[in-house]
Amino acid sequence: MSWSSIIGHERVKKQLKQIIKSRQIAHAYLFYGADGIGKSALAIEFAKVLNCESGTEQACDVCKNCKRMETLQHPNVKLVFALPAGKGEEKGDNPVAVLSESQVADIREQISLKAKDPYHRIEIPKANFIKINSVRDIKREASLSRTEEGKKVFIIFNADMMNTEAANSLLKTLEEPLPGVIILLTTSAKDQLPQTIISRCQLISCGSLQETEIEKALIEMEGIEKTIARLAAQLAQGSYENARKLALLNMAEERKDVVEFMRLVLGRNRAALIDTIDELASSLDRPGIERWLKLLQSWLRDALLLQQNEQTPLLDDEKKSICNFVEKFRNADLISCIQAVEKAIAHLDKNVYLHLILTMLAIDLRKFITETTTV
Ligand SMILES: [Zn+2]
Repeated sequence: MSWSSIIGHERVKKQLKQIIKSRQIAHAYLFYGADGIGKSALAIEFAKVLNCESGTEQACDVCKNCKRMETLQHPNVKLVFALPAGKGEEKGDNPVAVLSESQVADIREQISLKAKDPYHRIEIPKANFIKINSVRDIKREASLSRTEEGKKVFIIFNADMMNTEAANSLLKTLEEPLPGVIILLTTSAKDQLPQTIISRCQLISCGSLQETEIEKALIEMEGIEKTIARLAAQLAQGSYENARKLALLNMAEERKDVVEFMRLVLGRNRAALIDTIDELASSLDRPGIERWLKLLQSWLRDALLLQQNEQTPLLDDEKKSICNFVEKFRNADLISCIQAVEKAIAHLDKNVYLHLILTMLAIDLRKFITETTTV
């Protein structure tokens, strides 16, 4: 991995490189921002560069230290994350040694997945919080006489998962910084961390990713088809993790459902439309409906671009239906349609009955498409 393989975050990368260049390294940094945008990827790369033998702001990828970071097995870099409680675990126990063999195997597997893919989210069954023993371990590890050159870096993923005891213990460590030790914390819920911890860290604010950055990464890193990548990027709300999940789900299939819905909205078969609305409202939860509505919105946006003779990449098997639609409803007020979907999405947050939201939307869409058209 290198700075360039991390998606987006140009400002943060510049900031981190500047910190390394200045050699004014603080003892704690808090990377905060939304879920799935690559905060841990940034923290891992920062830790790697801090230990690289090249001594520059760019990891060389060939030295012994860089090689060991490839598998996240560097003795200087420790990952701290939520773990299950061990059987009869007491304060002061080694947080991993108290776990069963299969739990330890899970942890190893998760670290190896994270090493291969910095956007992988470490998840271990029954790991509900970061244990005090994991935080105490930082102190113990840090006090061991160091056989390795470089900086000792602890990366605490999702620091908001520390329970109160663990947070208090970390606070003590932050109050008495250990020489040569750097603590990196990541969180998507900064306001859930005690102010006392936040105030002892240098803050690294990580913004959401841009749609174009996500789209490019999906195509280049995951080999996802351009049209799917674009759709997933539009729906992902700035999160690469969301986008990747969406792209791997079969979005082309879901767009077909949207086309079918539009066909029913504009057709005469009211009973079939009511059945479809029933099915949607009963089979999808609110986030599912929101995603479905956004797909519908992106379909309408494509139609609008075609109506205005603009270029838009389309999925092969829907080209015909969307072109036919635009041809048939030349004067459709698609801007109002897109706004109607926006209104439906807003109603989702207000706990309005799902059937009602979808029925009102169907009526609006029919009106905006057909009332301006002579069929
Ligand atoms: Zn190196």
